[in-house]
Amino acid sequence: MPASHPDTGPHAAGDVRPRRLLTQNREMKAIGVWNWTLPAWAGRLADGRTYNTCPSAGICARVCYARNGTYLWPAVRARHQANLMFVLDDLPGWEAVMTAELGRRAAQGRWIRIHDSGDFFCDEYLAAWLRICHARPEVRFYCYTKEVDRFRRLVEPDPPANLFWVYSYGGTQDGALDPTVDRVADVFPDEAAISEAGWASQEASDLLAVLGPPLVGIPANRIPAFLRRLAGRRFSTWQAETQRGVHRRGRLPRPTPGTAAPAARRPTA
Ligand code: SF4
Repeated sequence: MPASHPDTGPHAAGDVRPRRLLTQNREMKAIGVWNWTLPAWAGRLADGRTYNTCPSAGICARVCYARNGTYLWPAVRARHQANLMFVLDDLPGWEAVMTAELGRRAAQGRWIRIHDSGDFFCDEYLAAWLRICHARPEVRFYCYTKEVDRFRRLVEPDPPANLFWVYSYGGTQDGALDPTVDRVADVFPDEAAISEAGWASQEASDLLAVLGPPLVGIPANRIPAFLRRLAGRRFSTWQAETQRGVHRRGRLPRPTPGTAAPAARRPTA
């Protein structure tokens, strides 16, 4: 697997693979959705390889729900990393197992959320998901993504009918989004701020992110340290402020209209 894993060299598959790829937490169970997850953002696997599953993450990485709480429990983290290792070490094998698992009766007519955390970190991985969507037309898939350029190139020209997505603000490609055309999600300080902006909250059901009105408001997680960092802003405004600062310091070229900004990989994103 390429680019997003600069330290990933040849590796023999032999790691412990999860028996089931799809899981369901309480929130997802309530709305009948199954979930596939990768570890969030950047890290190091047990074998020493480093990864970045969210190469276009921006300020979201500073307040990432999936880098907090239960996601950090060793067993949970190990499980998510095992998912990633399966993908990295044997993409065709992973695709076959995922396709088979989705063919079980329990998955028929269900919704699958692709990525509770993590993103479509390279073209090959996204292409594998597109093949899976085509292979399982009876299952519906949805996702949030900050991989705007990748979706513009690989998905938008001919999307599978059963794949629904929403672009989410807070990433280095925010400048490529057009809220008058694209379905977009933004994190707001609270529900009141969502209503005030005239956006629609997805709080009642995560599926509203792809089935509700196209301007999707998400109330920020009530984690005190994260709320302090957010400082009453929306992800989109915080990211724009950060991006302007980076441009001023001459670290990042300005994106040309209609194209995605280069995906800078930076810990403070
Ligand atoms: S893209 Fe999502 S999972 Fe990745 S760092 Fe941002 S908030 Fe976390």
